[in-house]
Amino acid sequence: MCHSYADIILPLAIKGRLTYSIPVNLQDIAKPGVQAMVQLGSSKIYTGIIGKIHHEKPDLDNIRPIVRIVDPLPVINEKQLIFWKWMSDYYMCSEGEVIKAAIPGIFFPEGDISMHVSEKYTPRLVTFIRLAGDYSEKGLNEIRDKLRKAPKQLDLINTYLHLSGLNTKTEPRPIKKTLLLRKAGYSPAALQGLVKKGILQCISLEVSRLEDKVYETEPLNRLSITQHSVLKSVQDQFLHRDVLLLHGITSSGKTEIYIHLIEEQLKKGKQVLYLLPEIALTTQIIKRLRKHFGNITGIYHSRFSDSERAEIWKKVAENDIEKGYRLILGVRSSIFLPFNNLGLVIVDEEHDTSYKQNEPAPRYHARDSAIMLAGFHEAKTILGSATPSVESYSNAISRKYGFAELTERYGKVRLPEIILADTREAYRKKLMVSHFTPELLNAMDQALARQEQIILFRNRRGFAPWVECSECGWIQLCRQCAVSMTYHKAEGNMLCHYCGDRRPVPSKCGNCGSTGLATRGFGTEKIEDEIKIVFPSARVARMDQDTTRGKNSFSRIIREFEDRRIDILIGTQMISKGLDFENLTVVGILNADSMLNFPDFRAHERSFQLMEQVSGRAGRREKQGRVVIQTADPANRIIRLVLRHDYEGIYRIQAEERRTFNYPPFCRMIRIVLKHRDKMQLNNFSGRLADELRNYPGYHVLGPEFPVISQIQLYHIKTILIKIEKQRSLSGAKEKIAGSIGRIRKMKGSGGLKISVDVDP
Ligand code: ADP
Ligand code: ZN
Ligand code: ZN
Repeated sequence: MCHSYADIILPLAIKGRLTYSIPVNLQDIAKPGVQAMVQLGSSKIYTGIIGKIHHEKPDLDNIRPIVRIVDPLPVINEKQLIFWKWMSDYYMCSEGEVIKAAIPGIFFPEGDISMHVSEKYTPRLVTFIRLAGDYSEKGLNEIRDKLRKAPKQLDLINTYLHLSGLNTKTEPRPIKKTLLLRKAGYSPAALQGLVKKGILQCISLEVSRLEDKVYETEPLNRLSITQHSVLKSVQDQFLHRDVLLLHGITSSGKTEIYIHLIEEQLKKGKQVLYLLPEIALTTQIIKRLRKHFGNITGIYHSRFSDSERAEIWKKVAENDIEKGYRLILGVRSSIFLPFNNLGLVIVDEEHDTSYKQNEPAPRYHARDSAIMLAGFHEAKTILGSATPSVESYSNAISRKYGFAELTERYGKVRLPEIILADTREAYRKKLMVSHFTPELLNAMDQALARQEQIILFRNRRGFAPWVECSECGWIQLCRQCAVSMTYHKAEGNMLCHYCGDRRPVPSKCGNCGSTGLATRGFGTEKIEDEIKIVFPSARVARMDQDTTRGKNSFSRIIREFEDRRIDILIGTQMISKGLDFENLTVVGILNADSMLNFPDFRAHERSFQLMEQVSGRAGRREKQGRVVIQTADPANRIIRLVLRHDYEGIYRIQAEERRTFNYPPFCRMIRIVLKHRDKMQLNNFSGRLADELRNYPGYHVLGPEFPVISQIQLYHIKTILIKIEKQRSLSGAKEKIAGSIGRIRKMKGSGGLKISVDVDP
C-alpha cells in the first residue's frame, strides 16, 4: 500500500504548510479541512488543519505521523481553504496567520507530548427538572392529593406541570431549574423535598450558549416607488454584473433595499452575509433583520467568547434550513465563517476604514476580501454607502461595478440643515461657554425644550489629551511610545492610547518640578462633565471605548437612547454611523479641525465621510434635523462641501488630487513597517531595504521615514511606501518585495528587527 501524506496548516506565523504522514488507521478519516494533531519541535503538540492529501513523499528524512484526528467532520470547507490561500498570497502573510485570525482558538487544542492534550471546547450543561416517573393523568392527581399538606411543594409541582406544557397533551418536558424556581416564587427547599420523594428529578442537559428566543416574523415593508425602481435596477444589473455600488444618501432606505435582496436569496435557499464596520451598529440592524427573518439570523463579532463563536461557527456550517444560521450580520471577521452556499454579500458603509485590519496579520480589507469571497461562491456583492470610497465610486464610474442611486430620504424628509459655528470668533468675543459655541447651545436649548434628543460628537476619548506644565511647557509622555498620555478623570489615571500603559496623574512637572500643571484639550469625558454643568437637568450619557467594555453595553446605551431616557449622548466615531433614532434632531460636531488636519492622504475624504455620516443621524423622520459644526476655519473647502452635502464635489476633488499625486486607485500601494528598539539599527536596515527596492523599475519608493507616532512600546518605527504603477504586475512586485525583505532578515544583527507588510494600506 502506498503511503499518504497530509500538508497541514498550523495556526502559527510559519511560512507554508508542513507535511506529515498519515498512519494507516487514520487514512479513512484524514481529509482536507479536518483538525489534525501533530508534533512540532521536540515536545509540543499542535492542532492544525489538513490542507491537502497526497502521495508525494517529501524530500525529508524523518517525516512525523499525524498523532490524532480531532474530529472526522471537517471544521472548514473547500471554499474556505481556497479563499484563505488567496488571502495569504494577496496580503503577504502565512496561511497559518489567516487561520489563526479566522477560526475560534477553541478548535486548536495544544499541549505537550507527555501530557494529555486538553480539549478546549466544553458543551454548556444546565440543570433541568423533570418528572421522575411516567405518570398518568390519574397518577398526577394522586400526587397532588398527597401534597395537600405541603402547599409549597404543591405549588411548585403545579408550576412545573404548567411550564412543561401538560395542558397541551404532550409529554411534560424538562424545565430549566432556574426558570422553575423563579416562576414558583423561589422555594429551593420545596424542590428538594419533591426530589427526595422521588416525584421530580434533576438532570444535566447540554444547551446552546446562543440566544434561544423564538422570534415572530412580519412581512417586509413595502418599498416606496423610488426604492422599488432602485431594487429593480439592482436586480437587473446583477444579471450580468457581480459587484454593485449602491450610493444612497443617509436615511434613504438602503437597509430596506438590502432586506428585499436578502429575502430573495433566502427563498432560493442561499446564505447571505451582511457586513457592518462596527459592533455598535449591529444592535439596531439585528432587530430589523430578525423582525423579518427570525431565528435563521445570526450575529458574529469579537465580543463573543471563544465557545460562543464556536457554536455560531457550527450553526453556519450546518446550513440547516430551519436551525442553521443562513443570514449572518457581523463585523469584518465574519468573512471567515464556514459558508458553503453564499448567494449575496452586503458591505454596508463600504467606505469605512474599520474594514481594514491593521494589526496583526492578515492585514486585510474586509470589503475587498468579501468581493473575492463572493466570487468563490459565484455570489453577488452589494456595496452601500452615503459617502462611497473614492476607490469604489471610480469603479462604478468606469463601469467595473454596477451602480444604483437613492437621492432622497424616505418619506421625503429633508437632509439636515448645517450650521457653521466659528470657534475662533466666539473665543475672541468671549462668547464660548466651556467648549460650546452660542450656535450649538442655542440649537440644544431649542431641542431640549421640545423634548427632542441630541448627539455630540468628538473623536477623542478620555478627559484631556495631555497634561502640560504651565511654567516650562513640559508634557507627560508615555514611557514606551512617542505620544502624550491622556488624562482619564473617572479612572484617575494617565493612559497611553497606543500601548495601554497606565500611570498616576503627575503632581508636579517632570522637568522643572513646578506644581502648576494644567490639562489641555478635551475628550468625550470632559465634554460630558461640562455638559452636565451647562444643562443640569438634562439626562446625559457617553458612548466610547471606556463606557462600552461589557458585551451588552452597546445595546444598553442604544436602547436607553431609543426609549428617550437619555437627552444628550456624547460619543466618539461609535455613534457617528448608521444608527437610526426617531427623536434625534440636533447633532453637534465639536471640533471638525482635528479631523481635517490629520496627516494622511485619506484625511480629507475621511473627514467628509465622518461629518456627513454624523449629520445623517439627525432628523430622520418628519422633522428636519440641524447639525452644528464647530470649527476655527469655517472657510475650509471640505467643510464647505459638507455644508451642501456635496458628495460629487468631494469625489471630484479627491480623485483629482489622487491622480496628480499618484495615489490609489491610480496606482497600487504597499507599505512596509520596520520596528527596532535600536534607532541606529532601524535607520540602517530600513535604509538598505529602501535602496534595494529603489533599484526596481516602475516602483516609486518613498521613505524610509518616521511616522507621526514614531515609537510604540519601546520600538522605533520607520515606514517605506511603495507605489506600483497600475500596468505593472502586483504579484511580481510582491515577489520582489518578499525577496528583498528575506535578504534583510538574513543580515547580521537583524534579529531584533520586526518587519510587516501592508498591502493596500
Ligand atoms: P439608510 O439605510 O439609507 O440610512 P434606512 O433603511 O435605515 O436608510 O431607512 C431610514 C428610516 O426610514 C428607517 O427608520 C426605515 O425603517 C424607514 N424606512 C425606509 N424605507 C421604508 C419603507 N419602504 N417602509 C417603511 N419604512 C421605511
Ligand atoms: Zn504607550
Ligand atoms: Zn515645568
